[in-house]
Amino acid sequence: MPNRPMPEFPELDTQPFWDAAKRRELAYQTCSDCNEVVFYPRAHCTKCGSLDTTWHTSSGAGTVYTYSVVRQNRSPHFADLGAYAVAYVDLDEGFRMLTNVVGVDNPTTDVQVGMRVQVEFEDQEGGEYPIPVFRPA
Ligand SMILES: [Zn+2]
Repeated sequence: MPNRPMPEFPELDTQPFWDAAKRRELAYQTCSDCNEVVFYPRAHCTKCGSLDTTWHTSSGAGTVYTYSVVRQNRSPHFADLGAYAVAYVDLDEGFRMLTNVVGVDNPTTDVQVGMRVQVEFEDQEGGEYPIPVFRPA
């Protein structure tokens, strides 16, 4: 599989997320001032604007909130995948993540809203940072 598009590193706001991915950990932030869960990774709290956030490691367990199946993608990064599921997953720690559900025979019939999933990390050929994806738990 060709590598997926990646940020240019070093990546100021999301570097701790990618460093955690290297350790096969799914990182997220909470606000140190108001306790809001912050995701996707960024420099500030999305509720109060504070720049004081704390990094945590998610259990990687979640539930499919919704999904769609991409049947054809002409981007060279995805052209050879065939049909694949793009999903929003609600992690047990209270954040929602756009991702892929993998490890199913047929993404059209084998992914359901509400199904339990678990994070895993997809290595990128020759790449330094793996990508978090989910498979049925
Ligand atoms: Zn806050």
